[in-house]
Amino acid sequence: MATFSELGLSAPLLKALTEMGIEIPSPIQEQAIPILTGERRNFIGLAQTGTGKTAAFGLPLLETLKTDVKHTQALILAPTRELGQQIAQQLQLFAKHMPAIRIQVVYGGASIMEQIRALRQTPHILIATPGRLMDLMQRKALSIKDISHVILDEADEMLNMGFKEDIDEILSHTPEDKVTWLFSATMPRDIRRIVSKYMPEAAEVAVNKGGEMNKKIKHQYVVVRESDKMETLKRFIGVNEDLRAIVFCRTKIATQALAEDLKRSDVKAEALHGDMSQAQRDQVMKRFKAGSLKLLVATDVAARGIDVNDLTHVFHHSMPDSLPYYTHRSGRTARAGKDGISMAFVNSAEVRKLKMFERELELKFEKVLIPQNSEIGIIKLTQWAEAVVNTKPIAGNKQIEDKIEELFAAFSKEELVAKMVTIELKKLSIDNKDLNDTRATGDRRDEGGRSDSRSSRSSSTGGTRFFINIGEYDRMSTRELADLIVEQTKLPAGEVTVVKMEERHSYFEVPAQHAEKVPKDFTEYMLGSREIRVNRADQGGSRREGGDRGGYSIRRDGGRGGFSGGRREGGSSGSGRREGGSGGRSFGGGGDRRREGGRR
Ligand code: AMP
Repeated sequence: MATFSELGLSAPLLKALTEMGIEIPSPIQEQAIPILTGERRNFIGLAQTGTGKTAAFGLPLLETLKTDVKHTQALILAPTRELGQQIAQQLQLFAKHMPAIRIQVVYGGASIMEQIRALRQTPHILIATPGRLMDLMQRKALSIKDISHVILDEADEMLNMGFKEDIDEILSHTPEDKVTWLFSATMPRDIRRIVSKYMPEAAEVAVNKGGEMNKKIKHQYVVVRESDKMETLKRFIGVNEDLRAIVFCRTKIATQALAEDLKRSDVKAEALHGDMSQAQRDQVMKRFKAGSLKLLVATDVAARGIDVNDLTHVFHHSMPDSLPYYTHRSGRTARAGKDGISMAFVNSAEVRKLKMFERELELKFEKVLIPQNSEIGIIKLTQWAEAVVNTKPIAGNKQIEDKIEELFAAFSKEELVAKMVTIELKKLSIDNKDLNDTRATGDRRDEGGRSDSRSSRSSSTGGTRFFINIGEYDRMSTRELADLIVEQTKLPAGEVTVVKMEERHSYFEVPAQHAEKVPKDFTEYMLGSREIRVNRADQGGSRREGGDRGGYSIRRDGGRGGFSGGRREGGSSGSGRREGGSGGRSFGGGGDRRREGGRR
């Protein structure tokens, strides 16, 4: 799997991509970028929205434009105002470190006079809906006679919307020697006609969102509170003897914290992230491949290209922001013809996001229930009983045997079995807490980003100051904290300043225009088993000491009850339970409810 740098993009674009958190090329990008940055030629990309197609044409376009040329060089036609605006937004972000590039979008339904005025600044890239472009051309507000690139985005949609004649007319005003890049989800006859008329010898690349996804992957989800996610992982491990998985987190720091928490609970897990040296990463991979680690807790970037054939599960400890990442993550399981489960841990507010993933990626998520500890108990006790049955008695010490016989003489076999089972049960320290979050979907917990109208206390830099419950206690430097905030908010690194770090909390500042966004970015954000809170420093966040999840009391160790101790291994090979199965919580009721899906 190539990196963006290997695909031939230059430093300003690479920098912008990193800042946007886009680090792994999606399949359409991987295929299209080398073609489009190479020799000038026509191009057809069969790809839908959500595949990363805007970057697939936008990055090569920015790479090849000449900023010293005055005239408009590229024309991007899009069917709707919304798509036009989205393309413009994405290109502006990609071109962040290319200050000389001018990008403009024009569409119907907005003041044409304003657009005409803006066009006097001749953009290098013009994005337009066909109808408005025709109007502007008739008013001689722009010229497309010298353009070198035409991009037809969502060409099938443009034809569906009746822009066929407009497109013909527009293309007839473009120079013969331009190149045309056409993106379309489908290839109806009318598009083939455009291709044969205007796009000789076009290279063609096709990606299909649904088809890309390996059909052997089962997509499942559980609804769980952030603070219960680690316990949830442990429960799935408890019911899956053969489980070997990658657990995906969004940030390096989250991978580290989770891996540490898991290790403290005797789960064989290690983090894998970009700040580790190559030697450290190799070491971790070696142990994972050799089977001495059950879990690899990784960031998207670190897991790039991991090729281990027998992963039973991929867990999305936090859901990725975009579709290409979901596809990439899930593709780590069900390799070499095997089955695999891609399981998303979502909170009740994120279920909506899953629906979007389902729609866009043409897949179905099945809701499963987090196993009860009682089920794990049944598995462990059955194993224990089997071990007892299979044990061949060896000749013991007569004296001890006589003593034991004397002590046991007063009890029946049933009584003795009940006593021994009780001892084993106690060892398991069963906590039957139901981790399935049954709050109504979309019932978002009130979070730090309150919407009251009190003005924030602006700092000396004109930014807004925030409180965050991470401090020196977390063995994090101010730089590391700033990195964490940048990773989570996706703000440019230069816009986040950690101004003060105290033992258990810190203060940081961001430009005032991000004041609303930043607390939301940290909604239900966890550092290991701890919920991280970000509040505006003037809104009392720093005074909300202690108490429950609403406060900022720091518990390095979760402190929740749970299935503690070192008996993680073993168990049957079930997976999550389907929702709607019988809800028995006690022993004897749950064993047969385990899903078949997880058996391998
Ligand atoms: P598009 O298919 O162009 O509409 O892109 C869909 C979304 O995916 C946009 O929000 C992009 O910023 C995002 N995106 C594009 N390429 C990638 C990538 N390689 N990795 C992750 N996200 C991406």
